[in-house]
Amino acid sequence: MERNQLAINGGPKVKNTPFGTGRRFGVEEAKELLEALEQNTLFYHFGQKVKRFLNDFNKIYKTKYSVAASSGTAALHVALGAAGVTVGDEVITSPITDQGTVIGILYQNAVPVFADLDPHSYNLTAESIEQKVTERTKAILVVHLSGNPCDMDPIMELAKKYHLKVIEDCAQSYLTKYKGRLTGTIGDYGCFSTNDFKHISTGDGGIVTINSGDEADYFTAHAFADKNYQRHGDSVSKDLEYLAPNYRMTELQGAVGIAQLKKLEWICTRRNALGDRLNDCLKRIKGVNAMNIHEAGWCSYWFYMFTLNLHELSCTREEFSKALAAEGIPNQAGYIPKVIYAQELFQKKQAYKNSHFPFDQGAYDYSPGSCPNAENILQTAIRLDLNEFFSDEDIEEMMVGIEKVAAYYSK
Ligand SMILES: *Cc1c(COP(=O)(O)O)cnc(C)c1O
Repeated sequence: MERNQLAINGGPKVKNTPFGTGRRFGVEEAKELLEALEQNTLFYHFGQKVKRFLNDFNKIYKTKYSVAASSGTAALHVALGAAGVTVGDEVITSPITDQGTVIGILYQNAVPVFADLDPHSYNLTAESIEQKVTERTKAILVVHLSGNPCDMDPIMELAKKYHLKVIEDCAQSYLTKYKGRLTGTIGDYGCFSTNDFKHISTGDGGIVTINSGDEADYFTAHAFADKNYQRHGDSVSKDLEYLAPNYRMTELQGAVGIAQLKKLEWICTRRNALGDRLNDCLKRIKGVNAMNIHEAGWCSYWFYMFTLNLHELSCTREEFSKALAAEGIPNQAGYIPKVIYAQELFQKKQAYKNSHFPFDQGAYDYSPGSCPNAENILQTAIRLDLNEFFSDEDIEEMMVGIEKVAAYYSK
């Protein structure tokens, strides 16, 4: 039997050993949790854990102010609220992202407007964003997908030109750098998630950085995560000027977060090394497109996603995915099943049941084909799990597997 026969056709598998795994939580987290309980309060404003967590986060990010939230979705909503996004505003964002990116926009009764993506970085570009700017545009919500930084300089210039706020969705981009600067510190606000699937986990949770360094801006964001209660030391004012949700983080999440932050550097460094190796190798394989990382970018790879050049291959994306899986390389055909605007919510323009508000405030087009690059990415992408516990050998075998399948189907 030929060695290069595909496993799916009865040939030998490329990968025969299990992928590296490891424990994300240990006695460090347990110790912090115990201390949190011993405080006899789990309320963030009375305890020390959330405060310490944010303090440690601020040190890593060299930022003066940040606010804790109950999730990444909540963090994004807080940033939108602090940015002043309100009824009838438009927020330009990415059609390939987690649902959480658009939830806060809609809860502010603002309208998500989707701009197209670069075909190989899978990120928004200043050019595509500019095409969507209208008189109602209030903010740009960029997503650094999978830890890959957006090209921020032109985006910040554009924001300046049109007086727009910039919110960075960093849920997938811990310690990602752009021209030496950490993503989440470049725009007006940076939003992070500590849900259980991100680089670090507190079960659920979120963080918002307030990059203006302005105290009033910080208090606005802080209150927006806490029913708009104005807490200053021991005093609290509950005289509400406008609506805000309760997105408070508990001391239990803060405690776990303190221990998790200590692991962040090695998690991201390891993922960067593994991902870059994979990416460099894929640049040389015919039939596949590697990820485009900005030349002055540093990617912390939440996952690894490449696309297929289907006109160079004699297979479909699904056949490629199945053949690769048969080689012992688990993968998903695509990322989210379809672009965000293809969801019924946008097709029916129904954010709230039996209502078209706020979509009926303007002429919004969510028809198929409106972001062709984004749609094409999701139709040709193969996504690989990538994990800090993977060994060098795991990555080596992933490369061999991709090379084997691509060579077999090469036209
Ligand atoms: C995970 C994620 C979110 C939402 O975070 P949650 O903590 O799950 O609410 C938002 N945006 C992106 C890009 C994400 O990956």
